[in-house]
Amino acid sequence: MIDSTHQPVSRNAVCPFCSLLCDDLRVAVDGQALTLTGPSCGRARAGFADGSIEDVPLVAGVQASAQQAIERAAALLAGSRHPVFGGLATDIDGMRTVMMLADRCGGSVDHMDGDTLARKNGLLATRGGISTTLAEVANRADLIVLFGEDALGEGSRFVERCVTPGDSLHPERLAARELVVLAPQSATRALKGISVPTRHLPMAMSGAAEVASALRALLAGRTLAARAVAGIRTTDLAEVAARLAAARYAVVVWGKDLSSAPHSEVAMELLNELLKDLNRSTRAAGLVLGGGDGAASANAVCAWQAGYGLRTSFASGGPEHDPTRFSARQLIEDGTADLLVWISAYATRQTPPADLDCPTIVLGRSGMRFDVVPDIYIPVGTPGIDHPGRLIRADSSVSLPLPALRESGLSSVRQVLGQIAALVLP
Ligand code: SF4
Repeated sequence: MIDSTHQPVSRNAVCPFCSLLCDDLRVAVDGQALTLTGPSCGRARAGFADGSIEDVPLVAGVQASAQQAIERAAALLAGSRHPVFGGLATDIDGMRTVMMLADRCGGSVDHMDGDTLARKNGLLATRGGISTTLAEVANRADLIVLFGEDALGEGSRFVERCVTPGDSLHPERLAARELVVLAPQSATRALKGISVPTRHLPMAMSGAAEVASALRALLAGRTLAARAVAGIRTTDLAEVAARLAAARYAVVVWGKDLSSAPHSEVAMELLNELLKDLNRSTRAAGLVLGGGDGAASANAVCAWQAGYGLRTSFASGGPEHDPTRFSARQLIEDGTADLLVWISAYATRQTPPADLDCPTIVLGRSGMRFDVVPDIYIPVGTPGIDHPGRLIRADSSVSLPLPALRESGLSSVRQVLGQIAALVLP
């Protein structure tokens, strides 16, 4: 008989589906079904609706009990010469356990977005950077310059939360705020209806380094012989440079469409140098969006436990860092690693790369389906949904607790790895 009195429960939620970690969500919890009721975000809506709590572990493609899967995973790990822990889409507790196992088993750690992280870490280590927080952007910036369109559109609430927040500690800065967008023409649609004065100068992302370099030259008082740079009129760039120089607190924001592009190190370095130039006479800072799928948390835990960011190996008995040699792909393809432990607790589509030929253990969001079935699959819960968790935000200075939304009975990455560790480690 249908219970006509049954009502979904509305709960506050912190969103784990990108590194903005929005903490103002309402989610309707109806038994195990979750529906985002507001505010609107396409990525979050899909994330809460993803997965299944009825999944079962697989060993060699055959359904198995959790205990059988854990015992088989422990046997594979115990027999591995060099396991690589990849994916790493987990929370702080999960990553701590990864680090413990990698250290004790002589393995390596790399995130599924390791190429982007390696560029960012390399630049930070060699050149430094001037960065800010989401709260500083929302409250103090009078000029925000977006390089790229990652912060725009259905999958990001950056503009809503940081560019046009409802209120501000400094209302005069909010009232004076301007937005400049240097991004492909495709950004136009997402810019409609933004309530601060906005100027869009269409730019292909491949031109970002040229544009950053031109802005530096113009700020330094040089005259450019070219009439246009990367398709943007020099006179328009001169206006942006003048606005940057006049701003009391400019923030330059970029995301994955810049930091994952080929040769993006040059563009990011030039933007960092631009910020240093500006800080000689005014205040300016950068904000790098990204770090989703637990990347910011995994990188931070690795840094504070090993002294290096991700792409660190413990194979020699102590931590060693190499952003090229210790990529999970490189370690598997050159035969160094003989086991991939793939961790992906946020999205069922984030399976291990199908072209990596290596025995594989997957701890994946329950409901995952595979083109290439791994040796072992153990379904896990998602932090902030199936169990409490803690994640580090995009600006790296804030970690947020994520309460659980339902009692699904799914184990966390920390719990599963802990059970494997209990069988492997003396
Ligand atoms: S912007 Fe990111 S953190 Fe915020 S609701 Fe959307 S997916 Fe979640």
